Amino acid sequence: MNVPSFKVNHDTLKRGVYVSRIDTVGNSYLTTFDIRIKVPNKEPVLGNPEMHTLEHLLATYLRSDESKWSNEVIYIGPMGCRTGMYLILKGKLNVEDILDLLKNALLYIINFDKEIPANTSKECGNYLDHNLTFAKYEAKKFYEEVLNV
Ligand SMILES: [Zn+2]
Repeated sequence: MNVPSFKVNHDTLKRGVYVSRIDTVGNSYLTTFDIRIKVPNKEPVLGNPEMHTLEHLLATYLRSDESKWSNEVIYIGPMGCRTGMYLILKGKLNVEDILDLLKNALLYIINFDKEIPANTSKECGNYLDHNLTFAKYEAKKFYEEVLNV
């Protein structure tokens, strides 16, 4: 089995944003980023409710006109290990290309004060399992301690 992300040494991985893989689909490229919010195996992972809320808010922002990247977004979603999120974008990209996008996305979450988007039983598979307060806390922590330094 050849899964590049399994070959990364998670014992030395720090918080940050990494290019996890670049794939070709036809004549196009897709770049998968690891948005690593927690140090693997060394600190408590994200709670499911706040990770779920981060997913809803990141998807909302990234796919909005405001982000200016809406046409490039393929996927944003949580890692099963709950230490971060995967972001898949069209194109052959590096981390510098998306730093402003991610900073703006986190500021959107930090300042978010409305109803969580798509937070109904019709739109979400577990709509009661959210935590906006902790999502904002984690977004602020990652922004201040990792992205904005
Ligand atoms: Zn949901």
